[in-house]
Amino acid sequence: MKIITALKGTHDILPGEVFKWQYVEKKIKEITEKYRYEEIRIPVFEYTDLFARGVGDTTDVVQKEMYTFDDKGGRSLTLRPEGTAGVVRSFLEHGMFADALPKKLFYMITCYRNEKPQAGRYREFRQFGVEVFGAKSPVLDAEIISMAVDILKNFGLKNLVVNINSIGCPACRKAYNDKLREYLRPYYNELCDTCKTRFEKNPLRILDCKSDVCKKIGENAPVLIDNICDECSEHFEKLKNELKTYNIDYVINKSIVRGLDYYTKTVFEITSSSLGAQSTVCGGGRYDGLVEELGGNPLPGIGFAMGLERLLMCMEAEGVYMGEPSKADIFVATLGENTASYATGFIKKLRDNGICAERDYMDRGLKAQMKYANKIGAKYSVVIGDDEVQKGICNLKNMETGESEATTFDEIIEKLK
Ligand code: ATP
Ligand code: MG
Repeated sequence: MKIITALKGTHDILPGEVFKWQYVEKKIKEITEKYRYEEIRIPVFEYTDLFARGVGDTTDVVQKEMYTFDDKGGRSLTLRPEGTAGVVRSFLEHGMFADALPKKLFYMITCYRNEKPQAGRYREFRQFGVEVFGAKSPVLDAEIISMAVDILKNFGLKNLVVNINSIGCPACRKAYNDKLREYLRPYYNELCDTCKTRFEKNPLRILDCKSDVCKKIGENAPVLIDNICDECSEHFEKLKNELKTYNIDYVINKSIVRGLDYYTKTVFEITSSSLGAQSTVCGGGRYDGLVEELGGNPLPGIGFAMGLERLLMCMEAEGVYMGEPSKADIFVATLGENTASYATGFIKKLRDNGICAERDYMDRGLKAQMKYANKIGAKYSVVIGDDEVQKGICNLKNMETGESEATTFDEIIEKLK
């Protein structure tokens, strides 16, 4: 019979590489905690409406990329394509707006998007993300960007570019949208079908379309940041000054609109030249209208999401340290028939003391046991034979150097714990 394979666009994280993920996840959590973020865990699926409203129904994500299905009760559900909508939903549902504000949350989740699988683009992928609710100060925008940079630099990554832009607020965007429509009107018939539907509702989205024709048309369009209101402009100036205080080099990339509808004012993307076509490792921005859009009282918000597969690809490409596989501290070999239960007691004691201990379960001879201990990379080994059981004296072998020292079982525990 043929084996069943994993679906295209999904990938296993195998035991031989999981240590890299554990290293990355642990480091990210350590850094995030310095900035006082609290972890939140949200469901994999939600009502489809949440994403239609939260991500925006003129976005590529909602229009083309969601895994949507009806459950047995006829409800339309969707596998989360991103984390922000779910986090806002939870924030409102659990009344976190009554907590001390700002509320600073982070998550590590899998996301699901029905996209064409290619390098750096999966159908199931992982994101680390943060969201902050309740603060509108550009000081926070800068801190969020600086935290993302802090994380990436901490891994030793070098080829990073911080791209920032402002896409204004609903007030300045309204005037801009009219201007943009005027520019786009002569090209209307050339736009892709999706963008035709965006023309009235959300013309800004057309500038983020991946179709070559729409991209070309968008090249000479009026630029949003040149048309933002005084308040948004001041916010952007303060952000730039703060970034200078953090010593963060940035470029103003006027073409960033971001793939999700809910952004206001600050948007940013961190790209890496170590990656191929999918070069954005981290993207985020301010979303001052989202909480209200999802049924709450108006409350500003800001966040970013970092693609973890892309982060690991970047780390591989730049050859930076990615942790080490965990290894057994000691392999306990047995010799003779009556030593197994003594070994069991000793191994239990080792593990009770927090030491990683491994043994033989295959009735192997001593030579084969030592070969196995070598294969799994055990740091030490000890052989328990009748003599050792009787006298309580044994030899602890350092598997790396090959050196042995006479010792007792209790001393081994003291040494390794
Ligand atoms: P892209 O322009 O690459 O399509 P996006 O704007 O759709 O990105 P976001 O929704 O901002 O991406 O998601 C944040 C991050 O998640 C991205 O910067 C990227 O690192 C990662 N990401 C997004 N989609 C995928 C995917 N299909 N596979 C792997 N990582 C992804
Ligand atoms: Mg995308």
